Amino acid sequence: MTKMKKLDDPVSVLPGVGPKKVVALNKLNINTIEDLLNAFPFRYEDFAARKLAEVNDQEKVALKGTVASEPVVSRFGRNKNRLNFRLLIEHEVIMVTFFNQAYLAKQIETGKEMAIYGKWDAKKQRLMGIKILAAAAEDELGGVYRSSKEIKQSQVKKLVAEAFQAYHELLVDLIPLALRKKYRLMSRVEMVRNIHFPDNATTAKLARRTGIFEEFFLFQVKVQYLKKHNRVADGIKLDYDLSKLKVLIAQLPFTLTAAQKRVVNEICADLHHDYHMNRLLQGDVGSGKTIVAAIALYAAVTAGFQAALMVPTEILAQQHAEKFAHLFKDLDVNLALLTSATLGRASQRKELLKNLANGQVDLVVGTHALIQDDVNFKKLGLVVTDEQHRFGVSQRQILRQKGHAPDVLMMTATPIPRTLALTTYGEMDVSTIDELPAGRKAIETIWLKNKQQEQAYAFIEKQLDNGAQVYIVSPLIAESEMMDLKNAEEVYLKAKKRLEPQYHVGLLHGKMKGEEKEQVMRAFKAQQLHVLVATTVIEVGVDVPNATVMMILDADRFGLAQLHQLRGRVGRGTQQSYCLLLADPKNEYGSARMKVMTQTNDGFVIAQKDLELRGQGDVLGSKQAGVPDFKLGDPVANLNVLQVAQKEAAQIVKDPMFTTGNQSELYRYVRRSLVTGMSFD
Ligand code: ADP
Ligand code: MG
Repeated sequence: MTKMKKLDDPVSVLPGVGPKKVVALNKLNINTIEDLLNAFPFRYEDFAARKLAEVNDQEKVALKGTVASEPVVSRFGRNKNRLNFRLLIEHEVIMVTFFNQAYLAKQIETGKEMAIYGKWDAKKQRLMGIKILAAAAEDELGGVYRSSKEIKQSQVKKLVAEAFQAYHELLVDLIPLALRKKYRLMSRVEMVRNIHFPDNATTAKLARRTGIFEEFFLFQVKVQYLKKHNRVADGIKLDYDLSKLKVLIAQLPFTLTAAQKRVVNEICADLHHDYHMNRLLQGDVGSGKTIVAAIALYAAVTAGFQAALMVPTEILAQQHAEKFAHLFKDLDVNLALLTSATLGRASQRKELLKNLANGQVDLVVGTHALIQDDVNFKKLGLVVTDEQHRFGVSQRQILRQKGHAPDVLMMTATPIPRTLALTTYGEMDVSTIDELPAGRKAIETIWLKNKQQEQAYAFIEKQLDNGAQVYIVSPLIAESEMMDLKNAEEVYLKAKKRLEPQYHVGLLHGKMKGEEKEQVMRAFKAQQLHVLVATTVIEVGVDVPNATVMMILDADRFGLAQLHQLRGRVGRGTQQSYCLLLADPKNEYGSARMKVMTQTNDGFVIAQKDLELRGQGDVLGSKQAGVPDFKLGDPVANLNVLQVAQKEAAQIVKDPMFTTGNQSELYRYVRRSLVTGMSFD
């Protein structure tokens, strides 16, 4: 009896795929036939024979000619050999050399027409052979696949071919016919076939175009569906007490900006509805997100629910807890701080966990310690995450599951360029604080060479004389925390030597205990320390308005978003602030990045520039910026396709026919992939 074939059959159904190969394939993330068919080549080798005159030095090419000399094999070293022969191409004779492939000699006969793929050495007029092409049968383009030590890419390719042969009739079209016509796209079968085994460069390109559209389109259909689904009324309704919120707002030492008022209204409207709030609050550094969070959290408390604020570092948790304690001191809010430091003390831990579980604590501020297993809430109504880009999606998800579907507000100072808005945050509603509190002066940013450090110190000294406080950020050593620390200590000693005894210098780094960090931060806030040398632990959230100078060493080692965040630690008061970037960038890309920093303080502009520059400087750019990992499409380079796909997807999901009518194949696909868990990571 033959079993029904399914695309999710394991790869072991293919002939010759035993346990060893299964493991090797699994390591490449290929588990099923479908995975195999989706394991697209990441580039092509061009096997179409080229004209010698057009070939560049060191280029990989196929050359076609007539063998003009007997093959000669010479042996050297231990077990090494070299195979040489001459090839006549039109009127020129070149040398062809294969290393350690002496067995090829028997295929080479004088006078025979041959096509050989290899690397061209122009100086020596020599082709370093990679393989002999079976001139007639070979495709013009040969896909190159991801492979490993355990499984060669030629084997992967062979399996793809077998899988395609046996399963291609199961490939169904997910893009509706009308769209395929409108955008002149291939059917799914044709697309898959032509990506793996293109007849020529043109069909390969067309297939890829379809593939990119399909990938973005399916992603967007899921995102749009999720968004619509989230609006279903099975969340909680927070009946907050507006008069109490007004009391809180009236107590503030400042009036809210128009933008703050607007986003508070957007958030409160969501809280009041019985669907899940899933909202992103974006606002540049210093735009005043904390108070917006406080108002939202307080709203949840007045509605009789518990509320939680999750932040990425202990310093930040501490700082927010202190601010909130002050803010809510005359209001009826039972506030708690939960970090790994507070959880570390057994007695305190027990008490705290008990009070969260029995609902005694109204509002808790914490680090990721909040999402540990033994932390339970009685009635969690709202979760706010600050600087949420530091948390993974799964961490946010866990916290969300701790309540009965609490409303979620994520705050970020990393502005999202359109690309990210369309991908990473596509399923969320977005509120934007687009103005800074009045009276802020633009931070002046100056780029200096490393050898100008003394000048920088002279400047710092002058500012200190005027009563300012200063941050010095030590260079980022991404590879090792230990090196990071050593570096920070060196910078610290240097700063001490240069500025003490007149001024006091402190050190802050990630390896310090929570309590030590607290002490240092407190001393800096109290102006007992004038200069704070720090690693990037101060990157997020730290708020000391009297600090007006920021010096960043080896600034070119940091990402633009990170530099912007770091710089955001100054310019928080009414005094003129300065940011000194010390850097000797190694290339134009590095210089361009430094220039962007000196030219603008606008986080949105920086984020957009960042993506653009990364596109040129670093192929992994979009991945690092948090864009989901697409197989074919590049959301930055193919932004226009992404936009079209989003527009069409939104249209389709809106259509009531989507769940019932003739697009049911697409609908089934969406349901299936949402059940098996959709990852935006
Ligand atoms: P961020 O958005 O970077 O988290 P914060 O919430 O830390 O910014 O706010 C930055 C500073 O601005 C804080 O010292 C805060 O008290 C102050 N602030 C917030 N809103 C206003 C406002 N409307 N007017 C004046 N100052 C404000
Ligand atoms: Mg903040």
